[in-house]
Amino acid sequence: MTAPTLLETRDSIRNRTMTSQACVQRLLDGIRTLDPAIKAVVSYDAERAMTLARQADERIADGHVDGPLAGVPLLIKDNLCTAFGRTTCASRILENFSAPYNAHVVEKLEAAGAIVVGKTNLDEFAMGSSTENSALMVTRNPWNLDYVPGGSSGGSAAAVAAGITAGSLGSDTGGSIRQPASFCGVTGLKPTYGRVSRYGLVAYGSSLDQIGPFGRTVRDVALLLGVIAGRDHRDSTSVDRPVPDYLAALEQPLKGVRIGYAEEYFGEGLDPEVRAAVEAAIAVYKSAGATVQTVHLPHMKYAIACYYLIATAEASSNLARYDGVHYGHRTAAPKDYIDMYCASRQEGFGAEVRRRIMLGTYALSSGYYDAYYLKALKVRTLIQRDFEQALGDVDVIACPTSPTPAIRIGEKVNDPLAMYLMDIYTVSANLAGIPAISIPCGFSKAGLPLTDLRGSVKGLPIGLQLMGAHFAEDRLLRIAHEYQLRTDWHTRTPPIANGGT
Ligand code: GLN
Repeated sequence: MTAPTLLETRDSIRNRTMTSQACVQRLLDGIRTLDPAIKAVVSYDAERAMTLARQADERIADGHVDGPLAGVPLLIKDNLCTAFGRTTCASRILENFSAPYNAHVVEKLEAAGAIVVGKTNLDEFAMGSSTENSALMVTRNPWNLDYVPGGSSGGSAAAVAAGITAGSLGSDTGGSIRQPASFCGVTGLKPTYGRVSRYGLVAYGSSLDQIGPFGRTVRDVALLLGVIAGRDHRDSTSVDRPVPDYLAALEQPLKGVRIGYAEEYFGEGLDPEVRAAVEAAIAVYKSAGATVQTVHLPHMKYAIACYYLIATAEASSNLARYDGVHYGHRTAAPKDYIDMYCASRQEGFGAEVRRRIMLGTYALSSGYYDAYYLKALKVRTLIQRDFEQALGDVDVIACPTSPTPAIRIGEKVNDPLAMYLMDIYTVSANLAGIPAISIPCGFSKAGLPLTDLRGSVKGLPIGLQLMGAHFAEDRLLRIAHEYQLRTDWHTRTPPIANGGT
C-alpha cells in the first residue's frame, strides 16, 4: 500500500481516523526498516516526537486542531538548526554541534502543529549534487540503490520517495531541492529569494540560498510553502509580502497559460530520454490549451561559470567562521594558534568543501577580484535581465531539471567539473532569484531495478522544471498542479516503498 500523502496524513489526523502517534510510529518504522538500505536520515529523536504526538492527539481529542499541520510528522535537512539534537551539515567540523536555537522554518512548522522527527543527509554544507560529499554516509536512490539520490538535499528527497516521510524541507543554492526531487521522482520547490526566511539555515551562498519543501504532490508542497513563507525580521532579505493561500489557489480555474520554451535548455549534453519526456510534458500542456512560445535566454551559457564563482566566493567567506574556536571540531594538539586554525579546518572539512573555499578565496583575492568575482556579478545581472524579459511574455519556462537521470554512485565523484555541469539547468533560477519547481514527468530505461516485484515501473525518474516570475509561486504551483491532474507520474512509488527490493 502506498504511504499517505502529507494532505492525507493531515486530514486523517484531524478527522481522527489516524492518531498523530500512529503517524509518528509509521515514520519511525520507516527509518528502522527502510533507512538501513537508503541512509537518508542522519538523526532523529523518537521520544521527543512521540511526546509531541501524544500532546497533539490529546488536543485533537479535546476538539482543538492547532494549525494546518497539527500532529503531522516531518523530516528536515540537517543544515537547518534545531534546538534539539544535532545540526551537523554532514560535516566532521559540526559533527557534535548542538544549535542553541531553532531555525525560523522550524518555528513555523512547530507553530503550525508539525512534529520535526529528525534530520536528513546532505552533501557537506550543501555543496554537491549527489549527497556523496556527506562526511557521514552516502544516501541511495530508492528507485535503484546503486544510484545517487541527487544533492545536496538527497536525504530529504530520498526519504519522501521511499515513503519514510510524506514531506520534508531542503535548501536550494543552485538546484539542491529540484535536482534531487527530479532524481528521486518527487516534487520539490525552490521559492523566490526572499519568500522564506533563512534564519537558522547554515549559510552556503547567501545571495542564492533558499529553503523549500519536498512532497510527492504539488498539493503537499503548496501546503508546506504556505506554512514556512513570510517575513522574519531576523533575515533582512525576507520580504514583507502577503503569503497567499497556495493550497486554495490550486483549486482556482486555470486559463490562458503561456509556456516558454527556451532552446538554451535543450542543447548539447541533454540525455535523449530526458528530452523526450520533457517535450512530451510540454505537449500535455499544449493539448490542455496552453500556448507554447519560444523565449531567449542568451546568457544562459555563462550560468555555470557565473554560479560557481559567486557560490564559492560566498562560501569562502561564510565558512570562515569555522575556526575551531567558535564552532565545532578543534584539533587535538596544535603547535600554536595559527596551527590550531589550520589543522582544525583541515581535519574538519572534506575535500569538496576545501576545494570550494580555495576557489572562492582566489576569486575574491586582490588582483583577481575584478576579473572573476566582479565580472561574475555583472554576468549575473545579464542573466537576471534575460529572465525578467522572458517571464514578461510567458507564465513559466518549461525545461528539464537535470540533463540526465540519476547517475551511479561513484560515477562522477572524482570529476568535479562533470559534477558541476549537472547543475546546468538549475543554477540560473538561483542567480535570477526566481521560483522554480521540479515535478516527475517520466522514467528512463537505463538503471532498471534488478528486481521489480510489481513489474510496473521501470527505470529512473525524470523531472520537469517550471520556472516562474518573482513571488508568483501561486501561479507556478497552479500550473504544476495542472500537470499532476492530467498525468500520474507523481503517483508512482519505488518497489522498496511497497515492500519490494
Ligand atoms: N550542486 C550545486 C552546488 O554544489 C548546488 C548545491 C545547492 O543547491 N546547495 O553548489
